[in-house]
Amino acid sequence: MDKLIIGLDLGGTKIAAALVDPDGRILAEDSRPTEASRGVETVIDNLVAAVRQTAGGELAGVSKIGLGAPGPLNCKQGLIYKAPNFLGWDDVPIVRLLEDRLNIPVILENDANAAGYGEWTLGAGRGTRDMIYLTISTGIGGGLIIDGRIHHGRDDGAGEVGHMTVEPDGPLCGCGRRGCLEAICSGTGIAAAMVDRLAAGAKSEALALAGGDPAAVTPAHVAQAARAGDAAAREVLDRAFFFLALGITNLIHLLNPELIVLGGGVAKLGDQLFDPVRALVHERAYPVLARDLPIVPAALGDHVGVLGAAMVARGQGRG
Ligand SMILES: [Zn+2]
Repeated sequence: MDKLIIGLDLGGTKIAAALVDPDGRILAEDSRPTEASRGVETVIDNLVAAVRQTAGGELAGVSKIGLGAPGPLNCKQGLIYKAPNFLGWDDVPIVRLLEDRLNIPVILENDANAAGYGEWTLGAGRGTRDMIYLTISTGIGGGLIIDGRIHHGRDDGAGEVGHMTVEPDGPLCGCGRRGCLEAICSGTGIAAAMVDRLAAGAKSEALALAGGDPAAVTPAHVAQAARAGDAAAREVLDRAFFFLALGITNLIHLLNPELIVLGGGVAKLGDQLFDPVRALVHERAYPVLARDLPIVPAALGDHVGVLGAAMVARGQGRG
């Protein structure tokens, strides 16, 4: 009983927690609002409550806690430098704050790295040594598994694949720069491109699917319209998938992976995304590097965050 781990996934709107055994089986879970707009103390209170609830009063049986959190952060110092959408977060020593309250070792990891590590240990990446994970949802995050380990880089900032510049004069990104992969291919980027086209006078079924409100257009609406043959929606997706394939091709040339795993809400579009992206990557990448290189959907679904954080903690740290 002393080997149980709690995986925590700190998101902008939701905290998820799971009690996990060393083989990655989930024994109990909890989910609650982050309340990020109420400041650091409230978020810490909510994390502690999620841990206590998940452990079901058996905190003594928990050997470690893995925490996946949005970056930029420093894993070794247990510090979150800044979390977008979190009020007042500036160099928060989150590991110390949680350890003081819970008296259990806490291991911090970037959320996309943790998710990638989860897919590598328990999901689509099992059995590989070199794997690239991309999560494509409201933003784009990456986790690089190189030679069987998460690659962190000097500032724990490696794998920020969403901010690779793929189109120098492209749309403005949330990071303040132009033409990042995330600005074009994330769910937010796809919806924004559709809204731009509507504003420019294009007719698209996506607008009706969104109830006539451009602000309510989602990537799922765009995809549904494209499947029905809508030209404007198709162009928006073609462009997003082209740049996604470009980003993946660049990563392949940099790292020569065995496997690419795509997760996140946009990857749930399935073949509509995977078929063109695979074809474009194989067209553009060095044949030797792209040969027999699978590009596959993530396997852990909505549990990827908590499982990944738990597996990161299993793999390292004290206790
Ligand atoms: Zn950016």
